[in-house]
This record gives sequence, C-alpha cells and structure tokens, in this order.
Amino acid sequence: MADRQPIIEAMKRNAQKNGYYLCPDQQLFNDLIDGLATNTGRYGYGSCPCRVASGLKKYDVDIICPCEYRDADVDEYGMCYCGLFVNEKVKNDPSLLGPIPERRPQEVIDVALSAAEQKPNVPDVITNHSKKEKKTEGVKIWRCTVCGYLCARELPPPICPICKAKAERFEVFTIT
Ligand code: SF4
Repeated sequence: MADRQPIIEAMKRNAQKNGYYLCPDQQLFNDLIDGLATNTGRYGYGSCPCRVASGLKKYDVDIICPCEYRDADVDEYGMCYCGLFVNEKVKNDPSLLGPIPERRPQEVIDVALSAAEQKPNVPDVITNHSKKEKKTEGVKIWRCTVCGYLCARELPPPICPICKAKAERFEVFTIT
C-alpha cells in the first residue's frame, strides 16, 4: 500500500483548487484513502477506489482520481461517484452521501475489463507483463450484494464505502 498522507494532501489541494470539499464522513473518507493507497501500490497509479480497474493504465486513465467524471457528478449530484469530493451542501449534511449512478460508459468498462482478462495479449504491457501479473496475484473482484459496488482486492473490504454494508455482504464477482 502506498503512503496515505501524500494522497490526502494531494486530494486536499485538488479540492481547494476546484472549489470542492473532501468527504465529510470520516470513516468513508479513510476507506476511500485506503483504497487509493492500495490501488497506487498495486497498479502504480491511484485508480478510483469504487471502480474495478483493469490494471492497464491506458484503459484506466479516465478513472485515475480525480476521475474524468467527477466534475459532472459533483455538479449534478453534489458528490463524485465515491463521495470523496463533495459540494458545500453535502459537506454540511453528510446524510446526503449515498449511491449515485455510474457515469462511466458501460462500453468503456467492458473494454477495460476484457483487456484485463487478456493481459498477456495486450501489446502495451508485454514488457511489464511479469511485473504486472505479480502485482495482481490473489486479487479477486468483490461485489457488494447490497448496493452492487465492485472492488478488486485480495479480501473483501471491511465495510462498503458506498452503502456501509459489512464484509460478509460481499461475494466474489465473476464476469460471464
Ligand atoms: S469517483 Fe471520486 S474517488 Fe473515484 S476517482 Fe472519481 S473523484 Fe476519485
């Protein structure tokens, strides 16, 4: 896992610069920072802690935090998909935090996930292939059975960052 503090500082600076606030729910905030730190350590870049990354940067650039969808989501819903960045209204009333629709197009998700499945054949990763394979050893995709949140990690998260369901409500997700 990468260091949390530089990530927290970078997110604070980014929020200030853009007129946003960071998640007002401390537990959710910590979980999201942990997710970013884990993904940074695992992939070498901080992909969104609430989305499944392919592990191939060229397919994940749109979901490197802060993702391409953040501004539109904060505009429309007052928070980004994870709830890490929020507007003033949500900052002042954390009970408004909750699931919002996924703005990332399904076709983009499908392409990224299928690229991840075929990693050995993806040209851009041939030189780094053995390194990347090692990093994802033991990683499964977990799905929250309550809200559908997906994450890639060795074990289910202790708490769902979206709906706060406990680890036992997660199941291994397989792509059919
Ligand atoms: S949804 Fe929020 S936490 Fe996730 S990548 Fe976008 S800005 Fe970052």
